[in-house]
Amino acid sequence: MSPLGFGPTVRVLADQCAGSGACRRVAPEVFGADGRGWVVLLDPHPAAERLDQVLDAQDACPLAVIEVVDENGDPLG
Ligand code: SF4
Repeated sequence: MSPLGFGPTVRVLADQCAGSGACRRVAPEVFGADGRGWVVLLDPHPAAERLDQVLDAQDACPLAVIEVVDENGDPLG
């Protein structure tokens, strides 16, 4: 469990997504896909318990278009 008492905020530069699907394989509750395979952000404010999962998804993105920030907007990944 994350030591943070709040959940992260997730942002995706969807117009730069390559449709690899890596993010949704790692964190399917947070990332989905539209009919063409481009990322759709399902949950921009996941619970703190999902922080490690979304950071793993961020690491898995080949184009580094996923941002994970704290309540002050500072990067967590
Ligand atoms: S991992 Fe990155 S490039 Fe791949 S679908 Fe997710 S946002 Fe798009």
